[in-house]
Amino acid sequence: MKHLLSTQDLSARNALRLLNVAEEMAAVGQREIKKLPALRGRTVVNLFFEDSTRTRISFEAAAKRLSADVINFAAKGSSVSKGESLKDTAQTLEAMSADAVVIRHPASGAPARLAASGWIDAAVVNAGDGTHEHPTQALLDAFTLRRHWAKLDGTPSAGTTLAGMKVLIVGDVLHSRVARSNVWLLTTLGAEVLLAGPPTLLPVGVGAWPCTVYYNLDDALAQRPDAVMMLRLQAERMNAAFFPSTREYSRRWGFDDGRLALLDTMGLDDTVIMHPGPMNRGLEISSAAADSPRSTVLAQVRNGVSVRMAALYLLLSGDSQDDPQDDQPENQADQPDQLATTPEGRTP
Ligand code: ASP
Ligand code: ASP
Repeated sequence: MKHLLSTQDLSARNALRLLNVAEEMAAVGQREIKKLPALRGRTVVNLFFEDSTRTRISFEAAAKRLSADVINFAAKGSSVSKGESLKDTAQTLEAMSADAVVIRHPASGAPARLAASGWIDAAVVNAGDGTHEHPTQALLDAFTLRRHWAKLDGTPSAGTTLAGMKVLIVGDVLHSRVARSNVWLLTTLGAEVLLAGPPTLLPVGVGAWPCTVYYNLDDALAQRPDAVMMLRLQAERMNAAFFPSTREYSRRWGFDDGRLALLDTMGLDDTVIMHPGPMNRGLEISSAAADSPRSTVLAQVRNGVSVRMAALYLLLSGDSQDDPQDDQPENQADQPDQLATTPEGRTP
């Protein structure tokens, strides 16, 4: 892997490799000293053209745990608002010898443009572009699901796929890069994906996606999903009336207290509720659901750091070769040497 731009073109093998390395990174997060020397002397630039605190600090924590130097570049209030182009910004970063550029941009395709431009040599990581993709979010969601599934089975999660798992994604799919990245990644990993939302908030062409679409949330819940992923209603991207009122939206599409109770009634004891954050409590998700033992919201945040560590590590550690044969067994050279032993000297 040279860049991480989307999950649509991420092979199952590379996705699994990333999740497996993330498991090792998570083990590091359990230690008293949470830092590894792996990226000492490397520079990671967080280039954010759109407001985001959560994703930026997650990438920052990940880079710092790997001992990289981090430069945060928020485009608001910078020379970008004075009209500087993406090319000039990129060339400035190149002149500062950035090894990786983590970019969030309101325009779909901006990270791919940067990666293909030849303006920079750095590895490009897409941290969310317009309504296109948010690959590290989907990876952290897959990681969270895989751990939940393994815990139920009493088996280790490393190495396993999501085969047999049913994941329901609900709400504003139209504006959601999280939904798109998850549809591709979860199906690549073997899960069955269901989508539910009002027709006005489902994209044209959704029929061609590898998932089943429901126009009624309760019909979708009747399919007995293993996980329900609620999407944020992205009011800031809406320039038209997509539904009659927020009250109506939350009644029909919100994961409210009634639907939380329904999971119990249906005997879906192991079904989890996910949300990428930030949540609109009381709109797409009730507080009782967000704070219930079924909620994985905080685990998702925690896992985000491990997954982003794995992504930066694999992109910058020199192991940038794509594997031509996707079905080859995991090869030893993929394992980061520095991580092979725990402080006690055991192999994790
Ligand atoms: N859209 C941001 C994210 O990816 C939300 C935030 O930064 O608060 O998490
Ligand atoms: N934080 C996620 C994103 O930036 C989800 C959201 O904002 O609703 O796409």
